[in-house]
Amino acid sequence: MSTNIPALQIARPGSSRMNKTGSWRTYRPVCDLETCTACTTCVSFCPEGVIKVNKEDKYQVDLDYCKGCGLCAEVCPVSAITMEREEQE
Ligand code: SF4
Ligand code: SF4
Repeated sequence: MSTNIPALQIARPGSSRMNKTGSWRTYRPVCDLETCTACTTCVSFCPEGVIKVNKEDKYQVDLDYCKGCGLCAEVCPVSAITMEREEQE
């Protein structure tokens, strides 16, 4: 896979752990677990450190703290993640 995403330096990774983001997020990542290969690329790029991947469960995201940036969907080499609009109450 080639990507044009520039290298990022994250000053305070995981900072949204201090603030739940689920109520104001506009989009949420949804993973097709049949397509996910558990490569862990998304784990490396998530600026909030809220993705866990293992061979059994594959992609798991803590939506309480995901801010919906879409970076995981951008870097997934098999396009397993789509960003879906949150339904507002
Ligand atoms: S959209 Fe993906 S990369 Fe962004 S915070 Fe949520 S899980 Fe992490
Ligand atoms: S980058 Fe894509 S294929 Fe790799 S673990 Fe994440 S969702 Fe699965």
